[in-house]
Amino acid sequence: MWPNDSLDTTVNQRIAIYPGSFDPITNGHLDIIKRSLGIFDKIIVGIAVNSRKQTLFSKQERLDITHEVFANEPRVEVDAFEGLTVEYARTRNACAILRGLRAVADFEYELQMANMNRKLHENLETLFMMTSEKSFFVSSQNVKEVARFGGDISELVPASVIGYLARKFASQSNLP
Ligand code: ADP
Repeated sequence: MWPNDSLDTTVNQRIAIYPGSFDPITNGHLDIIKRSLGIFDKIIVGIAVNSRKQTLFSKQERLDITHEVFANEPRVEVDAFEGLTVEYARTRNACAILRGLRAVADFEYELQMANMNRKLHENLETLFMMTSEKSFFVSSQNVKEVARFGGDISELVPASVIGYLARKFASQSNLP
């Protein structure tokens, strides 16, 4: 028996925070999460609540949509947070921030953020995962654009998200 066997195993878990707007979650996000479960014991999808950023879905809607997607995945926790990602990561005992990279356009912003975060919390790594070839053109933004005009998004988002988008745009079109 190893000396640590009797300890609480959650203490040694490798936890990563995956922060973002998730407005809504797409297959691009899903791909990053699935692949990173091979590296970490647990992923916390951290839905960032930023009152200055306008989102299509409210905080509660984004929580509901994302919870539904991971209902059968015990190693993925869905949560919302306000303020600095590094502070949130500290309170959740995370060892890494996970980010996805699609194009060169993502790179400069992500590099600046990663360096700033390292300055704020030097023991927290930012891990970048390259998008898969199927997802490099998928973003929450273009999914919303396509869905708004009734286009087919079935290959871009999990099935349950299609209904949330349809209902949201239907309710908006009923507005005066
Ligand atoms: P933000 O509001 O920070 O842009 P998002 O919810 O759009 O957050 O995305 C969260 C993270 O997921 C970011 O690191 C973003 O680059 C990454 N991401 C989003 N879409 C994809 C994709 N199709 N492939 C890989 N990474 C992605």
